[in-house]
This record gives sequence, structure tokens and C-alpha cells, in this order.
Amino acid sequence: MMAKQKIVCVLYDDPVGGYPPQYARQGIPVLAAYPGGQTMPSPAAIDFVPGELLGSVSGGLGLRNFVEGRGHSLVITADKDGPDSVLEKELVDADVVISQPFWPAYITADRIAKAPNLRLAITAGIGSDHVDLQAALNENITVCEVTYCNSISVAEHAVMQILALVRDYIPQYHLVVNGGWNIADAISRSYDIEGMSVGVVGGGRIGSAVLKRMKPFDVALHYTDRHRLPTQVEEELGLTFHSDVESLVKVCDVVSIHCPLHPETEHLFNDELIGKMKRGSYIVNTARGKICERNAIVKALETGQLAGYAGDVWFPQPPPTDHPWRTMPNHAMTPHTSGTSLSAQARYAAGVREILECWFDGRPIRDEYLIVQGGHLAGAGAHSYSEGDTTGGSDEATRFKT
Ligand code: NDP
Repeated sequence: MMAKQKIVCVLYDDPVGGYPPQYARQGIPVLAAYPGGQTMPSPAAIDFVPGELLGSVSGGLGLRNFVEGRGHSLVITADKDGPDSVLEKELVDADVVISQPFWPAYITADRIAKAPNLRLAITAGIGSDHVDLQAALNENITVCEVTYCNSISVAEHAVMQILALVRDYIPQYHLVVNGGWNIADAISRSYDIEGMSVGVVGGGRIGSAVLKRMKPFDVALHYTDRHRLPTQVEEELGLTFHSDVESLVKVCDVVSIHCPLHPETEHLFNDELIGKMKRGSYIVNTARGKICERNAIVKALETGQLAGYAGDVWFPQPPPTDHPWRTMPNHAMTPHTSGTSLSAQARYAAGVREILECWFDGRPIRDEYLIVQGGHLAGAGAHSYSEGDTTGGSDEATRFKT
């Protein structure tokens, strides 16, 4: 039997008004499988009600009874940033760390150096860029995530934000709430998406779901990726493939970003690339904030090179209260919520439980969940990531507290 493990789990804070006594809906639909046939998370059991809040501290991903019942210890905290944080103190003798990208525990090389027992970093969601993957490779730490758990959740959010930007929904909503009715003001930046060119960067699980969902809007669909989609998919959706992102952005009116953050994609959308876009384009970024260069986005919105920017991902997270993306013109940002709907939480909580069951029992973790294992990029990580670290600058997250 595995020696007693210490698990540190970093989750976002409970709602300001306290843990919810009731929900808007009774439960969530039961899905049979993911698109393409990947099976849903399959733990031996779960100790939570799907559709309830699991991603905050009191929800605890529904793990406490299971972990403690197996004789291991579990620390759950939202206090994750800075040298005096609970995370930093608890990590020193932790074996396993669990974190959600929405409220990421930045596992930097410095933190890994202070955590000699750390062997497993689980992402409760998708996207493990909050872990210094180079340090994990060097220190033989396994990094894994719950592949597919919230891909469709994000695709739905991206489509919502594409429409919100092009039709200019947010200002119209505010106009109504504020008692106004000037139609000319309300439509001054509002267009139909029909006939536009829409492109995605990264035609993986989310990117291809966005393309599929955009097809009925009668737009021209484009994508770029390191590996081309099957010809049958390209033909069904009428896709134009671009071998590089420059070629894609030159012809698109809307660009939706869906590649992981790794050294190849860090600050991909900088002044130079945005300068190659059509004037008045829109960017939706639900992948990772750092794929876009912060000041380049602000400048492009101010000059009109971009007509709008939306998404839900920032760098760092939480962003300081004076982060310029909070106040830049013509944005439709949300906090990092797309992948943590109540529906998504049930899937990634079950996926984390499945991974922990494997870990405790000494069974292999599914290949499709692996990002780093045995000192190499593995599984999904070997396909979609490159080696290196993208956590630099994450210590700015401490500024949110003050
Ligand atoms: P996938 O691995 O299915 O898709 C990612 C795609 O990006 C792959 O097809 C990959 O290519 C491609 N890619 C990698 N590098 C590049 C590059 N340099 N240029 C172009 N394409 C590239 O993952 P998902 O679609 O499920 O998720 C994608 C990302 O979305 C996650 O990594 C995460 O960062 C983000 N995400 C955000 C969430 C949110 O709540 N906002 C929730 C879930 C995910 P290939 O594999 O062919 O090499």
C-alpha cells in the first residue's frame, strides 16, 4: 500500500454570500461520452452531487472523505500567492498538489525546489502552464490534467463572446439597465457575423468544437495548427487550413485562440502579429492570457486596429485591480469562468478522483491525461506542448491582495 500522502489542493474562494443553499437548476444532463468517443472520467465512486459547487474551498472537489478515508491528508486553501501564503507553507512536505487554472497555484521552479516530496501535480481542468513544466521535467514530477473535461464548456463561451463582440451586446445591455433607448448609439458598433471570416488558432478539442458551432452562422472558417485535421473534417466544415498564424490573421475578421500556452505561443499576439490583422478585427482568447501581449492588446483597441477583444483568461490570475484589460475600450472580458461552469466542475472533480485512485493504487494514469511523466512530455503534453517554462511574472498575482 502507498505510504501516507499529503495532498495540497488550491481552490477558489467560496461565494461572497456563503456556500449556496440552492441552485438555479435541478442537476445537470448526464453525458454518455465526449465527442469523438473519449470516455468520461470513470472513478470507482464519487462523493458529491453533480451540478453543485465543487470548485470552491467548501466544495473541495468532493475529495475529502475519499482522501482521508484512504488514510491520506488533505489541505484545501485559496491562499496561494506570496511567500506567506498557506500554499507556500504547506507545499514544503506535500506529495501531491491539485490546482484549477481559474485560480492557479503557480508551481514555479522556486516552489518546486522547496518541495522535495512533490511527485504529482494535477490540473483540475485543462492547461498546465501554471506549473513550470521544465522544472517538472527536470525533477521527475508527473503533471496531468483532465483532458476534455471542459473543452465544450469553453467552446460555448468562445462562441458567446464572438457574438457578443461582433453584435456589440455588452454596451446595449448597459444602455437598457441605465434607462436609455438611443438606438443609434446602441448600434453604432454592431454588425452581423454572416459572411465574415472566422479563424481559430489551435484546431484541437476546443478549436474544432468552435469551428463546428460557428458553421451554421454562414461564415468562412479558417484554422491553423501544428497538425492538420482529417480531410473529412475539413470538408464537412468547409475549412481553410493555414500553415502559419500570420497567413490566418491576414484574412480573418474574427480570431479565436485555442492553443495551449507554452514557449512557442507565449506572447504570440504581439504588436507585430496584431499589426498584420485586418483593421477592425476581433480577438477572442479563452486559451491563456499570456498568449497575448498585454500592452499590445490595449494599444490595438485604443487605435482601432482591433474593434474588440474578449475572453476569460488573464495573466497573472487573479489580475491586479489596476490590470489594464479591466478598463481598456471595447472589451467583453469575463473572469476565468468558461471552463468552471457547474456542469464542467462535475466532470473535472470526477477526473481528479479517477487520477488520485490510480495514484494511490499504483495504477497508470490514462495516457490522454498526461502532460509530463518520467522526465519527458507525455500523452496529451507530447502532442500539444513544447518544453520550457511560462510561469515567469506570476508573482504579480500577489498584488491582487493589496
Ligand atoms: P487540445 O490539446 O485538444 O488542443 C490544443 C491544440 O492547440 C492542439 O491541436 C495543438 O496542436 C494546438 N497547438 C499547440 N501549439 C500550437 C501552436 N504553436 N500553433 C497552433 N496550434 C498549436 O486542447 P483543448 O482544445 O482542450 O484546450 C486548449 C487550451 O485551451 C488548453 O491548453 C488551455 O490553455 C485552454 N483552456 C481554457 C479553459 C478556460 O476555462 N478558459 C479551459 C480548458 C482549456 P497539436 O496537438 O496538433 O500539436
